[in-house]
Amino acid sequence: MLKVVNDSRPRSALTLIAMGVAMAGIFIADTVTDYAIAAAVFYTAVILVATRILSGAAVVVLACICVALTLISFFLTPSGAYEVGIVNTGISIVAIGVTTYLSLRMVAAKAEALQARDRLLRIARVTTLGQLSASIAHEVNQPLAAVVASGGACARWLSQEPPNLEKARRALDRIVSDANRASQVIARIRALSKGEAPHRQPFDLREAIREIVTLSRSEIERSGIALQLDMYDDLPRVFADRVQIQQVISNLVLNATEAMADGALPERRLRITASQAAPDTVVLTVADSGAGLTPSAREHLFDAFWTTKEGGMGLGLTISQAIVEANGGQICAAPNPVGGAAFEVRLPRYTEVA
Ligand code: ADP
Repeated sequence: MLKVVNDSRPRSALTLIAMGVAMAGIFIADTVTDYAIAAAVFYTAVILVATRILSGAAVVVLACICVALTLISFFLTPSGAYEVGIVNTGISIVAIGVTTYLSLRMVAAKAEALQARDRLLRIARVTTLGQLSASIAHEVNQPLAAVVASGGACARWLSQEPPNLEKARRALDRIVSDANRASQVIARIRALSKGEAPHRQPFDLREAIREIVTLSRSEIERSGIALQLDMYDDLPRVFADRVQIQQVISNLVLNATEAMADGALPERRLRITASQAAPDTVVLTVADSGAGLTPSAREHLFDAFWTTKEGGMGLGLTISQAIVEANGGQICAAPNPVGGAAFEVRLPRYTEVA
């Protein structure tokens, strides 16, 4: 039996009946008309319809039936020039064969395209999940490590004889503020994944930078990087989501540190500056003395999944760009006159509404 590969069974059954009627009609027309009329070519229409509802094997069986009917019609046809009949029958059989082959190829190509799309969607989902977990792990790990360090310090101050309560209290304050930061990061990541708007508020960019630098200091020192912070004294406050902007700074610092991981570098310098570029714009720059950006990197830096790192996700700068733009700013790779790479983040300054 022919195998129907479609869920809409009543419709398929009706189509099958219509196809049977059409084949019978074509057979009769092809038999009663003389050899000059090649009614058998209309079997190609039946085959085209069949590819929509039947499996590949069933379509091939149907095509063989059409060829057989064409041959039977040829032998039963009573009138017309015999040679013309042979040519027309040959043309009809070739048309049936070619139509069957091409329509089966088309169905297979469609199925492959669907499979490829499903595979891509799966990869995109898995990669996004992987990136989100990596980003959560990275963002939350730093405050948690600081909580553990402050907890250890607190225990030491308390176990002294007599206990140093003032220092223990300060360590506890640091624990509370780091734990709050960790929970804010998670809240912001949840908000980002839900597509919520950033919580913009006025804040001092220099302070936000110093917090990130404090969290990354041990990593920076361990990598033998000399850190230089240049902050304008009278820097106006910026108007943006503080935690999101700290995520961007943390990502730029991480990229810079990774760019200077090469042991052969003569020196490792990380320079972070905060200044005012225009009356309404505050600029943050993160510059390193790594290998710098290749022309291809300049072109693709902010493309999703573009990475040159083994195990890299290629989403850090994509996410940073999305965050900065959602906060009314801009991010770009800037020329670094002393070599290495530099990134510039422009943020709107806060202006009090009179
Ligand atoms: P990832 O860090 O996972 O590769 P990013 O989107 O953060 O993803 O970075 C994309 C690519 O941009 C990196 O793989 C690297 O090639 C390049 N890049 C980013 N920052 C720097 C930098 N400071 N110096 C040189 N190349 C960089």
